[in-house]
Amino acid sequence: MSEVLTVYNPATAAPIQTVPADTLAEVAQKAEAAAKAQPEWAATPLEQRIAAVHSFRHLLQEEAASLAAILTQETGKPITQATAEVTTTASRIDFFTRHVVAVSAPAAPPISAPEPPALEELITYDPLGVVANISAWNYPYFVGSNVFVPALLTGNAVLYKPSEFATLTGLKIAELLHRSGVPEAVFAPVIGAGAAGAALLDQPLDGMFFTGSYATGLKVAAAAARQLTKVQLELGGKDPAYICEDVPDVAAVAAAVADGAFYNNGQSCCAVERIYVHERVYEAFLAAFLATVQGFVGGDPADPATYLGPISRQPQLAELTRQVKDAIAYGATLHCGGHVLEQAGWYFAPTVLTEVTHDMAVMRDETFGPVIGIQRVADDAEALALMTDTEYGLTAAVYSGDRTRAIQILSQVNSGTAYWNCCDRVNPRLPWTGRRHSGLGSTLSLEGIRTFLKPRAWHLKPPAA
Ligand code: NAD
Repeated sequence: MSEVLTVYNPATAAPIQTVPADTLAEVAQKAEAAAKAQPEWAATPLEQRIAAVHSFRHLLQEEAASLAAILTQETGKPITQATAEVTTTASRIDFFTRHVVAVSAPAAPPISAPEPPALEELITYDPLGVVANISAWNYPYFVGSNVFVPALLTGNAVLYKPSEFATLTGLKIAELLHRSGVPEAVFAPVIGAGAAGAALLDQPLDGMFFTGSYATGLKVAAAAARQLTKVQLELGGKDPAYICEDVPDVAAVAAAVADGAFYNNGQSCCAVERIYVHERVYEAFLAAFLATVQGFVGGDPADPATYLGPISRQPQLAELTRQVKDAIAYGATLHCGGHVLEQAGWYFAPTVLTEVTHDMAVMRDETFGPVIGIQRVADDAEALALMTDTEYGLTAAVYSGDRTRAIQILSQVNSGTAYWNCCDRVNPRLPWTGRRHSGLGSTLSLEGIRTFLKPRAWHLKPPAA
């Protein structure tokens, strides 16, 4: 394991600073300290844990400008999007703090009529213990807080491994939580690249909560199997959107879907990655879509006018180039972009491909960048066959004037989230959950709180008189 981690600025490709990385021994020490500290944290009154999280929420708002600047600097996320991420994390926190009391309270089981229980029965909830939170760089505040906020509220200790591409943000999150009253041993950042994550998974853990790629998710699942511990995986996607011919405003739909595909430079787990358009509105949709994409302002992510900044990870440029070349080799039409920009930093020109097919990597593999394929379809049956032709199952969207039609199509797509006339949307009230190669388990919603608790069943029988 390397002893330092160099943090780069994707907008310039220049190093920003180096950060000490954790050695194997340091990871083990943090795990040991977390195990020692967790029982006291769990015994801390819930109101006190809620107060600490409220204080963290307050600091996020108070320091939003500087936190967003750090996020922009190390990931290239445009500053307006970075600011939105930092500030709207509050709504997730509010959901968790509002509901944690009820979700973690002891509960009576449902009475199974007609027989009343012969003795007293009760369910109580204990924290899991020490959990690993291995996180991604694309939305470090969102995907991190989906895990560490409910985990801490329910009395767990968290070993938090930020992505090596969002390390400064991860260290800031730790600092703010410690300033808010969460003990250092109860929320410990583990700094480093994949090897630090692997070292973390070798520690005795009561839960592994992972956000990242399918390939790494498989390794996390294997590590969880070795320890027989709880595992939850939020992985990638190849999310489809289908535009029916009955949409009332094709241009407005095209603009919304373009935003769903290109927001955060397409580096969202639930970005629209494949578009199918009914042939009757195909030409109108394509014209409006291209006009929208050509209107996106690219450039310096620190400039509030910028919508498309650089790609966060340099190796992704080669993957984007591969997918575009592969599509063209198979006969796709390139309407714009398709190449790395010749300038400092890791910029890829926004790219729209048509005449695409499922023989092409761009319609099968997660793209995770500003590249989209648009395919013309004859009817709902063809659209559905294409939408379901994937190993992923994160989200799916249908745009239609007819709710019944949309729901009928979406019900047949095996995805954790279904969108009618919207896309690329997350709400803390609803579970965030992937199916098949998109993951295991749920964050957010009441399920995303309960997942950090383990139930105990009580059978209580007073002695016979
Ligand atoms: P990644 O798999 O490369 O890395 C994720 C984390 O795993 C990082 O912290 C990394 O250091 C760590 N890691 C790498 N190798 C490891 C190992 N052997 N053992 C333990 N940890 C290891 O993914 P990424 O590039 O950071 O994130 C992008 C991916 O995440 C995309 O596929 C995206 O779709 C997905 N994602 C999913 C969601 C969701 O909610 N479903 C949200 C955000 C991102």
